[in-house]
Amino acid sequence: MQKYWFYIEPYTCIFVKQKEVLFYNTLNGEHLHSKNEKILKLAKALKKTDNLMIIGMSESAFTDSTISDFIKKIRDSFSGDILEQKWSINKPIQFPPVLKIRKESGYTKESWYGEKILTNLRELTFYINNSCSQNCKKCQFYSKQFIFCKKSKYRNSLPLKNVEKILMEIQGSFLSCVNITGGDIFKYQELYKLSQILKKYPFKKNYHINYLNIKRSNKNMLKILGSDNGSIKLLVHFPINNRDLYQAFRVLNDYNINVVFVVENEREIDETEEIVIKNGLKDYRIIPYYSGNNSTFFAKSIFVSLDDIKEASPNQKEIFSRMVLNPVEFGKIVVLSNGDCHANINTPRIGNIYRNNIYDVLFKELIKGQSWRKRRQFQTPCRNCVYNLLCPPITSYERVIGKANLCHIIE
Ligand code: SF4
Ligand code: SF4
Repeated sequence: MQKYWFYIEPYTCIFVKQKEVLFYNTLNGEHLHSKNEKILKLAKALKKTDNLMIIGMSESAFTDSTISDFIKKIRDSFSGDILEQKWSINKPIQFPPVLKIRKESGYTKESWYGEKILTNLRELTFYINNSCSQNCKKCQFYSKQFIFCKKSKYRNSLPLKNVEKILMEIQGSFLSCVNITGGDIFKYQELYKLSQILKKYPFKKNYHINYLNIKRSNKNMLKILGSDNGSIKLLVHFPINNRDLYQAFRVLNDYNINVVFVVENEREIDETEEIVIKNGLKDYRIIPYYSGNNSTFFAKSIFVSLDDIKEASPNQKEIFSRMVLNPVEFGKIVVLSNGDCHANINTPRIGNIYRNNIYDVLFKELIKGQSWRKRRQFQTPCRNCVYNLLCPPITSYERVIGKANLCHIIE
């Protein structure tokens, strides 16, 4: 009887969870999913460390239509193949890629201090102040889901010298972007000086400003903020004050702006589209906001479907990165106007700029943080789902809603 080697290509991942298996081809994005016990057994054998994703099979196995149909699908999707054993008496060898992780015990303050730890920093967000004359109903809530201005009755602002100190400390980092928001940033006494300091650095500067705070009297300052690698993110939430919005558009007419519309329902999306068309907006984004009572809208706009997962098709490198960190949150630090530092505004404080330097803050997040390493595969019910490394990483939405599975796959 003819004997065969059945092998899975090294670029194909096999995810096994309880009673189901997913073969995922990282090159062409093909998915082969099965809940069949025989396929599950086959997958488990292939996954055994010693087998290196190659197993021997005799011809008789192919008389089983479940097995032969499945192997045909594997071959048709270029995810694996069979080889007659007469061409290779000894078992062929292949080396499926394996992720090597530095043991956490290897992190010591001494070994990580200095430039090495700075290489983890990608994005800094400063809430430079928290005073604002507006009275938006959901002021305190937007910023928990995305970058948005927020005010507080306990007035405070970041001293320029402390912001400058952080910028000095992070020289040598891979920082690509600094976000500046408030409160109303025009109430920050040293905004001009801050903009001049930021200009000396090559990273992108994004000024997140609520449309309600754009006044004609700010025109010159807006020009300064929007120049030299700086850009204005105009924050717009509903209900919209049309007079103020059109005034903001008029003031910002000459500048490149990115308009960020925060929406809670379909009607607000329709309104946004009307505004976009009417004003010929080219650069804009629509961000859904979870209000607590718009679950249907939110499920429709944010929840992932199987088609979304298939379309995203992460490559092997991206899958490895999701195994060890949260690529959406990794490298981000938020500094609030009272000096508190967080990796995610919803996670516990990891330092304060009046007491800690940036190295302390980064070190704390690397060792004890709850953001940069918050991974889907450790959350319930995602831990038992074969898609957990293909699904988008955990974001603030999951934290605010208090549920990891924002999907249409496991309800
Ligand atoms: S403009 Fe921004 S900071 Fe001011 S009240 Fe509205 S949401 Fe809050
Ligand atoms: S259960 Fe979790 S991992 Fe599975 S599809 Fe839903 S969100 Fe993704």
